[in-house]
Amino acid sequence: MVRELTHFIGGQHVKGASGAFGDVFDPNIGQVQARVPLANTAEVEAVIANAAEAQLVWAAFNPQKRARVLMKFLSLVNDEMDSLAALLSSEHGKTIADAKGDIQRGLEVIEFAIGIPHLLKGEYSESAGAGIDVYSMRQPLGVVAGITPFNFPAMIPLWKAGPALACGNAFVLKPSERDPSVPLRLAELFLEAGLPPGVFNVVNGGKEAVDAILHDPRIKAVGFVGSTPIAQYIYETATANGKRAQCFGGAKNHAIVMPDADLDDVADQLIGAGYGSAGERCMAISVAVPVGEETADRLVAKLTERVHKLNVGRSDDPGADFGPLVGRDGVDRVTDYVQIGIDEGAELVVDGRGLTVDGAEDGYFVGATLFDRVTADMRVYKEEIFGPVVTVVRAADYEAALRLADEHEYGNGVAIFTRDGDTARDFAARVQVGMVGINVPIPVPIAYYTFGGWKRSGFGDLNQHGPDSIRFYTKTKTVTQRWPAGLKETNAFVIPTMD
Ligand code: NAD
Repeated sequence: MVRELTHFIGGQHVKGASGAFGDVFDPNIGQVQARVPLANTAEVEAVIANAAEAQLVWAAFNPQKRARVLMKFLSLVNDEMDSLAALLSSEHGKTIADAKGDIQRGLEVIEFAIGIPHLLKGEYSESAGAGIDVYSMRQPLGVVAGITPFNFPAMIPLWKAGPALACGNAFVLKPSERDPSVPLRLAELFLEAGLPPGVFNVVNGGKEAVDAILHDPRIKAVGFVGSTPIAQYIYETATANGKRAQCFGGAKNHAIVMPDADLDDVADQLIGAGYGSAGERCMAISVAVPVGEETADRLVAKLTERVHKLNVGRSDDPGADFGPLVGRDGVDRVTDYVQIGIDEGAELVVDGRGLTVDGAEDGYFVGATLFDRVTADMRVYKEEIFGPVVTVVRAADYEAALRLADEHEYGNGVAIFTRDGDTARDFAARVQVGMVGINVPIPVPIAYYTFGGWKRSGFGDLNQHGPDSIRFYTKTKTVTQRWPAGLKETNAFVIPTMD
């Protein structure tokens, strides 16, 4: 039974009008489970018009009332955690436990956004000049848009919508066409929580829908997360059209393993960080960099032993460590990269290709794969594979390991494992990467800090969530005021100064 999905516009489910549809698969069995409408330009323009009207209503709510809507939303999502996680897992393929983490990390940003009455406070300087006070206020931008990837269908829409809504904006979400059902359910829950209709909309679609968003003058800001070529395209097009843009792209995250690290602990952590969610995480560790040959030999032995024990299964199997990839194209891409690695001369230690899962023979499964003796000139090192593949690049010393992370074109996350505080401090200060873990393999910052990669992992100057998000989703107005007691002065022809 193939369900037909909708858009969510003006507080209602709206059928697609373009006649174009995309397929939503169940990656466990490799079959289409739903059809998602792909909006055309006229449909997107209608959503934006609706959102522009609704935004005026929403911006008139005082900040505390807006926070109460978010509080109610938080409670509704928590009540539905189990069914939302099952829905998410059924379209994405990550395990149910991991799907709950996806939703929970999104909710943590909603919790942060509930502090909006405090976060929106402006500045005030009394008597900045004679009888003059200066103050600033933060005002919503209007209608803003989020364009989000398949791999965190709850977390990333909420990272963007939470702060945007709290600041008084209306939000148009264009989620990934691969797993749009959770975003659609979140839209229903926002409405139930008391958000006025039209303030949070979901418009499904592909390139045409995205381009309509990028060219519409009523959209004031665009937040994107996805692959680097699309991030760059969206950043360039949005900013050329006068919009604010923050666009986060792909990654190749290194874990530097110093000789003094506890290698059993490191191996355990790298297994989760490398293979969790089948490696389909922008903060996955895909490169392990042991320092010194002895560290490398010991680490590879420990990783190999653990990789062989991993259990790959259906995403709803509670015993599975990770599930299928999201689509057939992912399986093809990962298998191609494994062959490329072999051809380039890397040593394939564990080959995950050709894995089948009993009872789910047509699912999009690839087993955990481990390469050793990868070098910096190889494509399997330079390019994002986005699958369950960990590559080991052996470094002669600390400086060589640091150089690898610094010189890679991506700069999303990085980790160092060591017991030496001096090395860790030096690394944190010098490494050219946006998010750093010290004995922490996936250093996704908590909600009240900000998330953002450097180099070709991020385009724009403000990060997601945390204080940066408030700056991104508001414009600052600065007021200079004087209340003379009657008009005492004559006209002034010299520019006023504050001396
Ligand atoms: P993607 O770039 O294929 O798609 C992301 C979004 O862009 C989707 O909504 C999609 O519909 C849209 N899109 C795709 N092609 C487009 C085009 N030609 N024109 C306009 N819009 C287009 O990414 P994905 O496969 O959904 O997600 C995986 C990628 O996202 C990986 O590269 C991963 O590293 C990255 N990612 C990055 C972060 C981060 O914070 N840096 C977080 C999660 C995922």
